[in-house]
Amino acid sequence: MSESRIVLVADDDPNFREIVTEVLTGAGYKVDPVSDGQEGWEHLDARGADMAVLDLNMPRMDGLQLTKKIRQDARFKDMPILLLTIRALVEEQVAGYDRGADDYLTKPFENKMLVARLKVLERRILK
Ligand SMILES: [Mg+2]
Repeated sequence: MSESRIVLVADDDPNFREIVTEVLTGAGYKVDPVSDGQEGWEHLDARGADMAVLDLNMPRMDGLQLTKKIRQDARFKDMPILLLTIRALVEEQVAGYDRGADDYLTKPFENKMLVARLKVLERRILK
């Protein structure tokens, strides 16, 4: 397995946050779990990350707002971002891609699919 990548996981639902953390940790990633977009941004700004898995609907700063903020920062503009949502609305998916998200996964998801999608995104940052 390659060296551990750090994945910022932002989700206000503690159950999903825990599931994603367990699945990604089990797949060999280091996970930095936070409970909303604002906390996510503070963690990124202070410590950085290699990739991000962001829930769409969160208090204070949602996943779309955080995605936009990440893309506007030179440090993170190329960071792979996977958005999570409980709804499969085309408008939401388009909005996510418009703001710079790389991929989109609808809850509930198969754990294997989450890991598979993240590995695809990870290839982009492997040299
Ligand atoms: Mg949420």
